[in-house]
Amino acid sequence: MDNVIYVDNSSTTKLNEKVLAKMLPYLKEYYGNASTVYKLGKISTNAIEQSRNKIAKILNVKSEEIYFTASGTEADNMAIEGIVKANKGKHIITSKIEHLAVLNCCKKLEDEGYEVTYLDVGENGIVDIGDVKEAIRDDTVLISIMYANNEIGTIQPVNEIADLAREKGIYFHTDAVQAIPHMKIDASKYDALSISAHKFNGPKGVGVLYLKDGIKIKNIIEGGHQEKGIRPGTENVAGIVGTAEALELTMNNLLENEEKIKRLQKYFIQRLNKELDCVIYNGDMDRRLHSNINISLKDIDIQEVIPFLELNNIYASSGSACNSGIKNISHVIKAIGKNSMAIRFTLSSENTFFQIDKIVNVLKNSINIIKSK
Ligand code: PLP
Repeated sequence: MDNVIYVDNSSTTKLNEKVLAKMLPYLKEYYGNASTVYKLGKISTNAIEQSRNKIAKILNVKSEEIYFTASGTEADNMAIEGIVKANKGKHIITSKIEHLAVLNCCKKLEDEGYEVTYLDVGENGIVDIGDVKEAIRDDTVLISIMYANNEIGTIQPVNEIADLAREKGIYFHTDAVQAIPHMKIDASKYDALSISAHKFNGPKGVGVLYLKDGIKIKNIIEGGHQEKGIRPGTENVAGIVGTAEALELTMNNLLENEEKIKRLQKYFIQRLNKELDCVIYNGDMDRRLHSNINISLKDIDIQEVIPFLELNNIYASSGSACNSGIKNISHVIKAIGKNSMAIRFTLSSENTFFQIDKIVNVLKNSINIIKSK
């Protein structure tokens, strides 16, 4: 796909060639089931355990605390439903801006008799620690607050919330799916944390759940003994190997990429401010991922703008990937008190200043055409 301007990296990322190269042998010659005891199976087991060690080291946790899943969604569900069902307490605290993997899991638990507090966020898209304190009850078993939001990129005060939770004897889970490609995370500060490989140039269909040693968890699917019976199912060996490699490459290039992407973000905002007078920025402009720019356009229907972007091979998103087929205002935009649709641009180090000029020009031209109709 030549000439594509891909600015939807929060939706998914391109598989890194080096990651693919590490994966291929486990798709071709080393295809053994890790549950078997002969040599081919042992090769798979070793590859899984080496990957587990690598990921644990990067997240500053023990390898026994790492579980492989089939997605970030599954890791979120395992953490929330698994912890809640294995421990005492009927009340969960989360926020209104969580990913649907968390929100819909909480809704399901409500149907089963649990009680959930969905915290509001301010206009800046950030959870207030005071609100968390107020929501805590004697029967609160779990607090789940995302590290960084997938639509507006706002970074949540997870360390303060984790400290508060620990003080009160409540488990704390954070969905770090969007944060992990952009920052070094010490997962040992939390009780549980979820990530997803396809957000950091790894393969689709592999998630990782970190669960602190000693925390009781109930498996949410039934099956065999894999992943200590907590996540049964034959392991995706190539995917797991690819995830470890992708995470290592991401962390090795973190600072360099951060600098590059920050410059692109700054330039993008400057160009938008210079060329357009109708831009409304969504979410806190400082406490946000450096990859994320989320805007609404005053008096312009975003749905009319999106086709112009696509026509020019610009791939951005109107909301999160999971909501992009749904033509209404996202729950996150509503939670920050806005009532217009938004476009999300999420940058990578592969984007260029030239591409940003092109995006701003296309936006400007499309707005002029829409206004003149
Ligand atoms: N959590 C967040 C914050 C996300 O952005 C996503 C995916 O967009 C997920 C969870 C789900 O991850 P996966 O796509 O691996 O199921």
